[in-house]
Amino acid sequence: MDLVPPSNGETLVKSPMVDVDAVDVKQVDEETVALEVTSEFETDSDDSDGDDADSDCGRAIQFLRDDQLHEVPGGCTLEEAVAFRKRLHDVGKVAFVEETIVLETVTAKKLCTAFGIRPPEFLENAPDEAYHPLLAVAISREFSKRPKLPQYNTIEDAVNLLQKSKNIIVLTGAGDTGLYSKLAHLGLSDPQEVFDINIFREDPSIFFSIAKDILPTEKKYSPTHGFIKLLQDHGKLLTNYTQNIDNIEANAGVLAEKMVQCHGSFANATCVKCNFKVPGDAIFDDIREGKIPECKACIQSIEQEALKPQGLKRKRSSNGNQKDRKEESSDEEDYEIPTPGVMKPDITFFGEGLPDEFGQRLIHHDRELADLVIVIGTSLKVAPVAEVPGILPRNVPQIYISRTPVTHTDFDIDLLGDCDVVVSELCRRAGWNLQHHMIPADEKVEITPVEGYESRHVFKVVGA
Ligand SMILES: [Zn+2]
Repeated sequence: MDLVPPSNGETLVKSPMVDVDAVDVKQVDEETVALEVTSEFETDSDDSDGDDADSDCGRAIQFLRDDQLHEVPGGCTLEEAVAFRKRLHDVGKVAFVEETIVLETVTAKKLCTAFGIRPPEFLENAPDEAYHPLLAVAISREFSKRPKLPQYNTIEDAVNLLQKSKNIIVLTGAGDTGLYSKLAHLGLSDPQEVFDINIFREDPSIFFSIAKDILPTEKKYSPTHGFIKLLQDHGKLLTNYTQNIDNIEANAGVLAEKMVQCHGSFANATCVKCNFKVPGDAIFDDIREGKIPECKACIQSIEQEALKPQGLKRKRSSNGNQKDRKEESSDEEDYEIPTPGVMKPDITFFGEGLPDEFGQRLIHHDRELADLVIVIGTSLKVAPVAEVPGILPRNVPQIYISRTPVTHTDFDIDLLGDCDVVVSELCRRAGWNLQHHMIPADEKVEITPVEGYESRHVFKVVGA
């Protein structure tokens, strides 16, 4: 609290003790990151003992969600945390550190909790300076977030935005009927187990053993997709970037030119050997029967080869279907019995490049035009959809609709609950007619504010 420099000739540390620019914030976006916290406390301490073995190792930062704040003794309350975050964005990093840490109005340990970082156990009982490197990470992480626009908070604000916006970007997740929940039903929590391109090339049967269970079946869609179609009908839909791969938006009537399927879709399939393409449903029968679909073009060229007089089985033929042939077949392969390529649905696997359309459209077209972003039913953890809010200008309002809030991005308005319920109530209030058999005509929705937030609201069907 004392601003008077010490008289004993020591230099008062006025420059920020917390080096807020020292940390590359890009590295701290994930849930946990390895951080080399070599605190002075640890390295200089004489009585450090048994834990020496791992004291040089990188430590994992433990992130703290708002609903976990109360778990940290002496940590910030939610109200304090929200106030500190706002203050940081208002005054900037250096001024913020000066009025908190330099003036000792609050400890670094407590401040870490305001920015969602849990004080690590290995720093327990350490002097407060030991928390400075961690606080630097915490502040940089918070500061790199797009600050919430203060003028948008209420349901009315959300409805007004819907009504006045002309170029709305909608980001949709895989949703309740989507791929990941289907995989979860199959006991596959990690989609990477099934959708790894290298595994697919080695053994496509792993993918096709579950593919029949994730095939798009009926042409049905949810009220949420009906809502996107309604935005299109009102001339307000700029682009729907979707993580869905089952074409569910198209079922609702969203036009292909209004949609980017960020993870590809089942709409087409491509031969992994010769790149021959077919409409997706051409291989659906095979998939349903549990067969691995084979390339008709490959089969044809193999048959033609076999009919040649010498019967040579070299696969490097001049057959027109074998365009774009990569240099991947080794010499030993050339003398194996030729096999046709496997037809792979055009969904994007891990290890494959994303459809180029995404970046092209977002950066060279939509970025300039967008006047509202609505994120529906995705936690925004998976690229490339997760990148969208950060790529758009920061003054474009952003509304979040999902069951649970996210902490790594600040939206202007959070509308929490069943997405179908939220969008149906928004339409009701906007005077728009969202008709869907899943929305009862007499549905009443109750909206309650979330304590501690001006801009967070929970939607619940009355009596549900
Ligand atoms: Zn082929």
